[in-house]
Amino acid sequence: MGGVPELTPLDVLRTTFGYDGFRGEQEAIIDRVVGGGDALVLMPTGGGKSLCYQIPAMVRPGVGVVVSPLIALMHDQVTALENLGVRAGFLNSSQSPDEQRTVERQALAGEIDLLYLAPERLDLARTQEFLDRVSVSVFAIDEAHCVSQWGHDFRPEYLKLSVLGRRWPAVPRIALTATATPATRREIVERLGLPDARTFVASFDRPNIGYRIEPKQQPLRQLVSLIRAEHDGDAGIVYCLSRTSVEATAASLVKEGIDALPYHAGLPASVRSANQSRFLRADGVVMVATIAFGMGIDKPDVRFVAHLDLPRSIEGYYQETGRAGRDGLPATAWMAYGLADVVQQRQMITGSEGSAAHKRLLGQHLDAMLGLCETLRCRRQLMLDYFGEASQACGNCDTCVDPPTPWDGTVAAQKLLSTMVRLKRERNQQFGAGQLIDILLGRRTARVEQWRHHELSTFGIGTELIESQWRAVVRQLLAAGLLAVSSDGHHTLEITAESWPVLRGERRVPLREDAVVRAGAGRKRAASAVKGSAAAGDLSTDDRALFERLRAWRSETARDASVPAYVVFPDATLAAIARQRPATLDALFTISGVGAKKLESYGDAVLTVVRGGEARADAAPRS
Ligand code: ADP
Ligand code: ZN
Repeated sequence: MGGVPELTPLDVLRTTFGYDGFRGEQEAIIDRVVGGGDALVLMPTGGGKSLCYQIPAMVRPGVGVVVSPLIALMHDQVTALENLGVRAGFLNSSQSPDEQRTVERQALAGEIDLLYLAPERLDLARTQEFLDRVSVSVFAIDEAHCVSQWGHDFRPEYLKLSVLGRRWPAVPRIALTATATPATRREIVERLGLPDARTFVASFDRPNIGYRIEPKQQPLRQLVSLIRAEHDGDAGIVYCLSRTSVEATAASLVKEGIDALPYHAGLPASVRSANQSRFLRADGVVMVATIAFGMGIDKPDVRFVAHLDLPRSIEGYYQETGRAGRDGLPATAWMAYGLADVVQQRQMITGSEGSAAHKRLLGQHLDAMLGLCETLRCRRQLMLDYFGEASQACGNCDTCVDPPTPWDGTVAAQKLLSTMVRLKRERNQQFGAGQLIDILLGRRTARVEQWRHHELSTFGIGTELIESQWRAVVRQLLAAGLLAVSSDGHHTLEITAESWPVLRGERRVPLREDAVVRAGAGRKRAASAVKGSAAAGDLSTDDRALFERLRAWRSETARDASVPAYVVFPDATLAAIARQRPATLDALFTISGVGAKKLESYGDAVLTVVRGGEARADAAPRS
């Protein structure tokens, strides 16, 4: 490294990224790769995977090549690095041949330390010959689970990546993913040809995310009150199952004065990319989306992820909610879940075309997800358990904070089930939850009269519960498999083999009492919690005012430079500045997230805002 002073990884972490120390296994991983060894890194979203390859690429001589499937995000990733003073570039199909040639020239001349590449390029002879001439310091394979054929993100191009080890055996490789299952891990090692990789598994816990699952009553109103009470002005993602509900929900939020945008695969590509870009760049946009949205979105300040429909598996749910709070600040994962969700998903599985084995697998995933919804235990503990990680009750989920009351639902279950048995035996009829509940409550509706259900001996035997409680009973029996959705396509319910021991009194049915979502419950929370962004959670009133001024300065600066706001400074850094109120550049430099380049670019402006002055994003005021 003729003449160039040698930088240690810690130097780079401190000077370039402005952080004090490594997190978890980052240091060991970086040492392994800097030393020329291969590594497989399993870390949850927000765990800090990027530094694990960025720092080796900067410390080792040559160019680090990052293979990433997320072409749409490469530009932002490179801009963020440039803002830190890191020399980086990317090559993908969005560029003109001229732009590509420029980047190639820079790589050959050693003028960049990091080069992002789309995986399909590596299959081209042209790219391979180009890489033969570049001195490659490390190959990083991001989102490495895309190589798994059974996973949810399979990309055939990833199978070709085994060429890296064969063609450039001397270059260390690091594969990274946030997918935890042992099967995926084995597949990555085998298919990428990484037998000598040392595996680093981080804890999958995300303690800063508070998990909450509420009974679904008026989902939109529940969502709006969550946003108003706890996430006013925050960026968030709202997941819906269908395109129609994405559009309807986004429109309703906008009507409520919330800055929301829709995203689903049915929108034109240009609208999708414009909406994604606004979500990434502007502060406080709420994206309403199908699960087509989100992979690789590395926006660190997403403060909440809301689910208005039941996810199909715990894996999917954990990945989606993991997009909240990557910056480590408090964030919320919230879901509204109800009887209709269970009926719909069970119906979808029964009616699907797949093989019996496939349906069984879908059924198992759904059962685990329902188990999470109906649990009396700590939700986080249950999820980590599912991923094979032991943990304690967390204190930051709804079942920890406000433990649900268990009650003995045996008699209620017997009343419901025996009504169903009677209808079937005496009249060969099957009905859905609505009619069954009307019968139990003794309501003489038009449909009850039409079917003469008031003549049943179980008519009106369930008045000790109200309708929402009966719906909760049906939902929990369905979740537990003590009831089933029939395959007639009409969402009617039927008895299962498991129902009989309950009817015979041989099996008890413990249920959880739903937290009651009263009108005004949201308002009550709003009054007790300080309104506003959760990122500023522990700031005093004065500090919070400064934080908001810093955010305003950041918005303007980001807009003028057309970069995402978090590329200027993440929320955590602004909160630390608001708390510590540095008076000098030296003091500012000690704050986590302030590196040398950012000190130079923004230091004076930040100090002016801290002093209470008006800092322009731009020396010449615009009109
Ligand atoms: P991942 O790719 O694993 O989802 P990132 O690499 O995007 O996570 O890191 C998540 C956030 O944590 C980023 O904002 C990053 O800058 C920050 N971060 C990573 N490592 C550290 C560290 N050692 N100290 C402080 N912040 C860190
Ligand atoms: Zn908990």
